[in-house]
Amino acid sequence: MNTTQVLEKSSQSVNQHDYDVVIMGAGFAGICQARHLMLNIPNIKVALVDFRPEERAVKDMKIGESMVEVAALFICKELGLHEYMIENHTPKAGLNFHWPKQAESTDQLDDYYHVWSNRQTAIASFHMNRSKFERDVLAMNKEMGVEFYNGRVVDVDLTEGDRLKTIKVKLGEETLELSAKHVVDAAGRNFIIGNKTDNVITDPNKLYGLNTGSAWVRVKNIDRTLFDQGYAPDRATSSSYYATNHFFGQGHWLWMIPTDRESMELSIGIIHHHDVIPTQSINTQEKFYAFLKANHKILHNLVESGEDIDFHYRPKVAYKSKEMFSPDNWYVIGDAAYIFDAFYSYGTTTIAFAIEGVTEIVRAKLAGEADAETKRSAYNKFNLAYAENVNHLIRFHDKQLGHASVMSWRVYFEYMWWFGVHVPMYVGKWHLNLTFVNKFLKLMPANMKGLFVDVYDQFNQIVDRGGNIGLMDAYRADQLIGDYSPLNHFDHFLENAQLEPLRCNVFAGMKHAYFFIALWYVKFQWKGFGLQGVLNPRHIYHFFRLLNLSFQAVIGEKIYRSKTKHLPKNTDTERMRLEFHQYRYQPVWQSGSK
Ligand SMILES: Cc1cc2nc3c(=O)[nH]c(=O)nc-3n(C[C@H](O)[C@H](O)[C@H](O)COP(=O)(O)OP(=O)(O)OC[C@H]3O[C@@H](n4cnc5c(N)ncnc54)[C@H](O)[C@@H]3O)c2cc1C
Repeated sequence: MNTTQVLEKSSQSVNQHDYDVVIMGAGFAGICQARHLMLNIPNIKVALVDFRPEERAVKDMKIGESMVEVAALFICKELGLHEYMIENHTPKAGLNFHWPKQAESTDQLDDYYHVWSNRQTAIASFHMNRSKFERDVLAMNKEMGVEFYNGRVVDVDLTEGDRLKTIKVKLGEETLELSAKHVVDAAGRNFIIGNKTDNVITDPNKLYGLNTGSAWVRVKNIDRTLFDQGYAPDRATSSSYYATNHFFGQGHWLWMIPTDRESMELSIGIIHHHDVIPTQSINTQEKFYAFLKANHKILHNLVESGEDIDFHYRPKVAYKSKEMFSPDNWYVIGDAAYIFDAFYSYGTTTIAFAIEGVTEIVRAKLAGEADAETKRSAYNKFNLAYAENVNHLIRFHDKQLGHASVMSWRVYFEYMWWFGVHVPMYVGKWHLNLTFVNKFLKLMPANMKGLFVDVYDQFNQIVDRGGNIGLMDAYRADQLIGDYSPLNHFDHFLENAQLEPLRCNVFAGMKHAYFFIALWYVKFQWKGFGLQGVLNPRHIYHFFRLLNLSFQAVIGEKIYRSKTKHLPKNTDTERMRLEFHQYRYQPVWQSGSK
C-alpha cells in the first residue's frame, strides 16, 4: 500500500489506526515479534513501522547473521520457518575457534591451533542472509494480516499504565497517528524509547569495562578453497566452512560467516577492544584489509578473492537498558535493548527470549488475566539478568582473546552452562514459568557469589604470567572425566520430542552441568595453580557451592518428576499411540485407474 492508499484507508474509518500492538522497526527483532504475536494470539491487531523499503537492497544489509541453538529453535519451531530456512539460507555446523601459532604467519589453517566443531550439532542451526530474511518474513507478516507502514516513527507518546499510546509516523509528506495498547521498540540503535526515557547505559564502567568497536565487510564470489580444500577426512563429520569460524588475536576476534551459497557470499568482521587496537587503525575498509593482511592472511586472501559488497565501521558496540518491559506497556527488544558483543552469536538468542516474554505479557494483559503484571515484572527481571549474563561472557576479553590456552578453557566453561542449563531451559519454556524464573535469577553470574569474577580473574593471572594450561576442546568427550562433553544432553528431550512447555527436564541438565562444572573447576585450579589453587578456601567454597547447586537440582528434579509423571512426553505421539490400538492390518490396495 502506498502513502495515498494508507491515508485514503484511514479516512474511511476512525478506528483504522488502532492496534493492540505497534512495533517500531521491522528488522530481525520487529518482524519476528510480529509473527510470534500473530501465531500465538488469535485476532490480534499488529502494525509494523519501518522506513526501509520492503525490497531490501544492499544498503539495507544488516549485521547479525549467525544463530545458535536457542535462536535456531525459535525461528524453526516457534516461528515455523524451518523449511524456509533450509530453502533460503545457509546451514551452520557449530562454532570453530582458531588461534595463530605465530603472529607473523597466518596464511593457512595449518598456521593456527583449532577447536573444531567436529560434528553437526543436535539442533540444526543456520546463517542468515539478513536482507533476504527481513524481506521474506515481512512479506509473510503482511500475508498474515500485519499492517506495514513504510515510514519513520518520529514520536511516541508513552502514556501511563493501560492508557492508549500514540505513535506518530512520517509517511512521505504526511504524518499519521497510530494508537496502540502496547508499543514495542525494535528500532535498533535509534533508541526511540531509550532516548525518551533515559533508559540506555553506554558508560563502559557500567558494562564491566567493555569498550569495543567493530568493522565488517560482505564480499561475494569468494574462493572458499582458500579457507579449506574440503578434504580433511579425519577432522570432522560436519563441514568446517559452513560453521561460524572465529579467529583470535591480541584484543580482537573475527567472525567468518557464509551468508549465501548461490553468490558465495561471506561476512567477515572484527570486534576490537579500544584499549588494545585503536579505532584509527581499523575504521576504513583499506585499514581493515591491511589489518587482515598483517594478522590473519587467510581471511585477507578470502576477501581479496571476491567482490566487495559493503563495508561498515561502528566505533561503539556495547550498551544495555535499565528496563526492558515497562508497566506502562512499552517494551524494548533487540538492538534497541542491549548488545555487548557478537561473540557466540548471542544477539538473536537474547531476542528470542525477549520476544516470547513480550508475547506472553501482551496475551495475558489483553485477556485481562490476574497475574499479567506479575509476569511483566518477572520477565523484565529475567531479561535484564540475562543481559548481565551476556555482559559477563565478554568480561576481560581485551586481555584474554589472544591467549589460546585460556580462551579454550573459557569456551569450555561457558559451553557447559549453555548446553547444560540454557538450552534445556529454553526448550522447556522455563523462562516463562514464574516459579522457575524467580529461582533462576539467583543462578545468574551477578548472583553467583563471585564465581565468574574469580574464574575470569584467574584467567587474567595465567595470561599475565604467559602460562599454558593446555588446550581444552569443548567438542570432545575426552577432556574432563568419563565421557562427558559439554554438548551432552542429560534428558531425552530431543529423542522423545519433549518440546511442549515444561516437558523438558531442565533439572536433569542442571544437576549434571553443575556437577561437571565443579569438576572442571578443580581441574582448572590444579592445572593453573597446583595444589595451592585446589586447597584455597575460596576455591573450596566455590567447589562445594557448585556441588550444592547440583544437589538442589536433584531435589528440583524429584519434585518435577512427581508433578509431571502423568503427563505424556509428547501429546501428539501419545494420541497417535492410543489411536493405534484401533489399527488392523488391511491387505488391500486401491486401483487408481477406472
Ligand atoms: C558487529 C555485530 C555483529 C553481530 N553479529 C551477530 C550474529 O552473528 N548473530 C546474532 O545473533 N547477533 C549478532 N549481532 C547482534 C545483532 O545486531 C542483532 O542480533 C540483530 O541484528 C538486531 O536486530 P534488530 O531488529 O534489533 O535491529 P535492526 O536490524 O537494526 O533493525 C532495526 C530496524 O528499525 C528500523 N528503524 C530505526 N529507526 C526507525 C524509526 N524511527 N522508524 C521506523 N523504523 C525505524 C530500521 O530501519 C531497522 O530496519 C551483532 C551485532 C553487532 C554489533
